[in-house]
Amino acid sequence: MRRRRLCIRGLCAASPACTRIPAMGTGYALRMHGARRLASWLLMLAACLCVLPAAATEPTLRLGAGESSFPLAGTVRYWHDTSATATPEQAFARAHADGFAPLPGGNPAFGFQTGAYWFHLPVENLQRDEPLWILVQEYALSDKLDLYLRNPDGHVEHSAGGDHVPFADRFIRYRHPNFRLDLPAGQRMELLLRVQSESSMQVPLALYTPKAFAEVLRDAQFSNGLYYGIVLALLCYNLVLWLMLRDASYFWYLLHTGAFGLVLFTLNGYGFEYLWPTSAWLADASIPLSICLALIGMQLFARSFLDLRTRWPVGDKVCLGVVAFFAMLGVAATWLPYSIATPIASRAVLLGVAWIIIATVVMLRRGYQPARLFLLAWSLFLSGTAAFTLLAFGVLPQNFWTQNGVQIGSALELLLLSLALGKRYASLREENIRIVQETNEKLERGLIDRTRELRTTMAKLGEANVKLQEYSRRDPLTGTYNRRHFREEFAQMLESRKGSGRQIALLLLDLDLFKRINDSHGHPAGDSCLVEAARRIEEVAAQRGGLVARFGGEEFVVALSCRDAQDALQVAEAIRLRIQQDPVRHEALAIRLSVSIGIHTVDTERGSSAEEIIRIADEALYRAKDDGRNCVRHSLTTA
Ligand code: GH3
Ligand code: MG
Ligand code: MG
Repeated sequence: MRRRRLCIRGLCAASPACTRIPAMGTGYALRMHGARRLASWLLMLAACLCVLPAAATEPTLRLGAGESSFPLAGTVRYWHDTSATATPEQAFARAHADGFAPLPGGNPAFGFQTGAYWFHLPVENLQRDEPLWILVQEYALSDKLDLYLRNPDGHVEHSAGGDHVPFADRFIRYRHPNFRLDLPAGQRMELLLRVQSESSMQVPLALYTPKAFAEVLRDAQFSNGLYYGIVLALLCYNLVLWLMLRDASYFWYLLHTGAFGLVLFTLNGYGFEYLWPTSAWLADASIPLSICLALIGMQLFARSFLDLRTRWPVGDKVCLGVVAFFAMLGVAATWLPYSIATPIASRAVLLGVAWIIIATVVMLRRGYQPARLFLLAWSLFLSGTAAFTLLAFGVLPQNFWTQNGVQIGSALELLLLSLALGKRYASLREENIRIVQETNEKLERGLIDRTRELRTTMAKLGEANVKLQEYSRRDPLTGTYNRRHFREEFAQMLESRKGSGRQIALLLLDLDLFKRINDSHGHPAGDSCLVEAARRIEEVAAQRGGLVARFGGEEFVVALSCRDAQDALQVAEAIRLRIQQDPVRHEALAIRLSVSIGIHTVDTERGSSAEEIIRIADEALYRAKDDGRNCVRHSLTTA
């Protein structure tokens, strides 16, 4: 603390250096003689008028026995020197002329003001054992404080404080400006304090004995430690969560909490105490800067937490606009006068938080559940900040709740926000699990449906394939097997009947003079005859388990198992008779048919090939044709 003795000219009229005048009381006048005595009387009267004129109207604060702390708001008087040009002499003179007024409503907060404020208080210490007192201004941000302590002998001591004086110069190195007061017992001293500041004009003054001050300090340090402990714990806890979860909301929460902690650290005077104890510029600029940073963090956190980008794009744009505004204000705060930047930033805190509350209410009305706790948290913060801001503007009185509104509101807010983050994370995780489950169920259902469809298709395909195979074996006109299938079946028959002791007979049938039928009755009639002939051949062959096929054109083939050639001849004869038996009906026509049949029978043991058997049977058929048609010929017989 800067402390020097001053001689205030004009107050000690007899001498230009008041330090040379030992006392200003009436005892001094009584020692004077002669003509000089009268002059001296007059001078002393004038001096007394200067020194003690206000004694009648301005009460003296008496520091009585047993008292150790005195809040001064009720007793101190003030004067607003709007041009900030008054000298201490003029201020003393004004105080003595009753030109100072009591604090309006006992409230030492005046809001953002220009000029200088002077505070005046006569004090008389009645405690012999407590000559040392401490004057504390319980507000950390005032720029310049000048204390003038006037002794009864007219000597004035000056001390300077505030954050435009290096922190180390303070009497006690404490976050609030403080001054040492030597108050000899029984002497009436005068305190004159000049405060000039670009920050809010708040001058809550108190007098303490060193012991009482230590007690106050202890409580304040404990409650502030508790607050910063909570902030630090929340920071560490959410930092760990952010590192683990990598959820952007946690990052913005960290920025908001860190920047907000810095705001309060600065507001409480710890910034000047611990971070920039010699920088008057930072002591001023840190307030709007940290407020802007905190508001940017706040908006980005709200934006991420409420998922505005996807859930409310218009709100998201407003949020980004607010962020841009605070970024610009933050940059401007580095050169704007503190008295302009800080009130804008302080007012914008309310607007910023109000906007967040609006966005939260909108999201809540849209059914976004995590917004519930979020709203409660911000409402608490808003109430605390509103109380503090209204205090800064001199609207609300200074008390525990208004002074600590921001701390209380923000501690609750930060706690609730951390809780809200946890809840939001849990609900996001539940939603994710639900989405994954739903997707899995959908996939499973789809898979079951697809499998069922595939099975049906495969079954249909199988059926179609069977039909196709069947079609590929059949002759489309007569429905009997075709030549290709016959060859396969006949080869298998030869193979499978080996060792059965029976013979295999191959009957080759050719309808007689079929060309004539076509020529006489037309092709469709010929087709009908072919169909009917096939049916009759199958009818007879089926009785013997014979295999019937259309061999081509008007030729058919029958393969069957028989005892011997005679047995085969009987079957062939039965077929021949059946074909010539009834005429075939086609429309109004009755067409008579006959057939020539060639037979070859083989022992299965002999291993004759199908081609050879067919060839031999064909030769027998030729013979039947040669022999006049409508007859049966066996390969072994000549008749
Ligand atoms: P042959 O007694 O010597 O066997 O005399 P053919 O007239 O029966 O013999 P040819 O080989 O000279 O004639 C066979 C005729 O069978 C010729 C052809 O028009 C007829 N034909 C062959 N396939 C079909 C068919 O699918 N439908 C009809 N309508 N006629 C057929
Ligand atoms: Mg023929
Ligand atoms: Mg023929």
